Amino acid sequence: MSADCIFCKIVANDIPSSKFYEDDEVIAFHDIRPIAPVHFLIVPKGHVESLAGCDDSHQALLGKILLLAPKLAAQFGLKGFRTMINTGREGGQEVFHLHIHVFGGGDTLPKI
Ligand code: AMP
Ligand code: ZN
Repeated sequence: MSADCIFCKIVANDIPSSKFYEDDEVIAFHDIRPIAPVHFLIVPKGHVESLAGCDDSHQALLGKILLLAPKLAAQFGLKGFRTMINTGREGGQEVFHLHIHVFGGGDTLPKI
């Protein structure tokens, strides 16, 4: 756990979240500022700053998180969805604890 990391505090249940999935390595909860009707985050329990902070030891974890995305999206009836990982301040990252956004459920998402 990293001091003053909001996602570490959510993992530790020190601050509330709308967590709907948990296993030994990851949690998933709804984004507090959704950009689509369904918008959740998949977050590893262990603190790692960003995708750029990962190394070979995170390979299985990263695969697990990606494979979890469609399973959790299906729980909310999403026929399609978008995944996003913001990395670094220049990449739009605001919370420096690795997470993957999964969102969809409205109109067809715009091309980016
Ligand atoms: P990023 O720009 O990828 O770092 O995005 C961080 C995301 O975390 C944003 O979409 C925020 O709305 C979301 N977020 C920040 N604090 C919370 C929180 N306490 N509960 C749920 N989502 C949060
Ligand atoms: Zn953290």
